[in-house]
Order: sequence, then C-alpha cells, then structure tokens
Amino acid sequence: MRIGVTGGMGSGKTTVCRTLEAIGVPVFYADDEVKKMYESDAEVRAQLIETFGEAVYNGGALNRKRLAEMVFGNDAALAALNAIAHPAVEKRFAAWSAQQSAPCVAQEAALMFESGAHRQLDKIVTVNAPEELRIRRVTQRDGCTRSEALRRMARQLSDAERAARADFCIVNDDATPLLPQILEISKKIENLIAIHGKVRKMD
Ligand code: ATP
Repeated sequence: MRIGVTGGMGSGKTTVCRTLEAIGVPVFYADDEVKKMYESDAEVRAQLIETFGEAVYNGGALNRKRLAEMVFGNDAALAALNAIAHPAVEKRFAAWSAQQSAPCVAQEAALMFESGAHRQLDKIVTVNAPEELRIRRVTQRDGCTRSEALRRMARQLSDAERAARADFCIVNDDATPLLPQILEISKKIENLIAIHGKVRKMD
C-alpha cells in the first residue's frame, strides 16, 4: 500500500510524516529527493543543462537562484522543468518502494495532484491548516516575509481543492490533536490491507 501525504506549505506534512516513520511507515520525501536528484542524477543534470544552459550549475552545485529566476512567471519554462523532474522522481520512488519490506509506505509531496504523483499512489492523505497559521509557521521556520510565503502558496491548490480529491484529511490547526488522527488513518489503512491485500486507487 502506497500512501501519499500532501498539504499546503506549512500545513505540517513533514510533521505528520515523521510520526508515520515513528510508527513504522517508511517515508519517501519527494521534495527533498528532487533537490538531491538535481545534483546527483547525471541524466537529470544533462537534461537541465540542455534545457536551461550551462549556467544553471555552478560546478557541481545547482544554481538554485538562477533556475528559480528562469522559471518564475514563465509557464513554458516551469513546464519544461516539471517534465524533467516529475518522471525522474517517480522512477526513484518506484525503485525505493520496491526495496521496502513494510506493508505500507508513504510519499510526502507538496504538489501531489499538481505533479500527477498521486497516480502512483493508492490512498492520499491531505493535511489542512488555516492559511494564517501556515503563513506564521513558514515565516518563522524559513525566515521569509509574509509576501514571499503568499507568493509560494499561490502556486499550490487550496486546502478545499486538495481535500476534495484526497481519501483522508488531517487537521493540523494547533487545536486538534494530531496523533489520534494519524493513528485512526493508520488503523483504517491496516484494515484495508488486511481485507484487500492492496487497494489500488484508480484516478
Ligand atoms: P513545507 O511544505 O513548507 O515543507 P510542511 O507542510 O512540511 O511544510 P512542516 O515543516 O511539517 O510543514 O511544518 C511547518 C512548521 O510548523 C515547522 O516548523 C513545524 O515544526 C511547525 N508545526 C507543524 N505542525 C505543528 C504542530 N502541530 N505544532 C507545532 N508546530 C507545528
């Protein structure tokens, strides 16, 4: 069973995933993998250079600022970057999940539905939190400004859009305890595994 964990910026996806790891669910952090892949995957590196030019790397290191400037506000460039990154990360996830022996694994991704990553997963969990709280968490965590946080959030689906497409929702609003919600979903997933062996989400 492959579970996807998504949610808006600062919703608490990573916090939920750390808890999943603590209860024995291995987690693949797609956003971290993409960052690593840009530097460690020779094929991805060659594709990025071909599409964006040599200056996208400073020696071995990706010039993140330059890449971000090239794709910002340029839909065609962003689509080209996604067309390189998404298939490569899907391949990595498939290889990683094939190596796991746990009955259930998870993938964390901010842009789950936007990237199409949900198609590789059986059930999707989305983490919801009020926008003001998410802005506060992100500005405190990353030291960025409110307008920078809003600009990054504008690229993502809304909580309502994600919730409409997800199988399970977790509320992480600093008032509702998280752990019981995670354990309840985990129990439901265990039951699905026990009943069906595996349930493939056809979407
Ligand atoms: P991003 O997409 O930006 O990486 P995320 O959805 O993975 O964000 P987290 O990194 O888990 O979110 O959480 C954002 C910040 O808020 C972190 O500093 C985290 O420690 C804090 N946080 C999240 N949930 C809670 C909570 N229930 N109680 C206290 N702090 C929390």
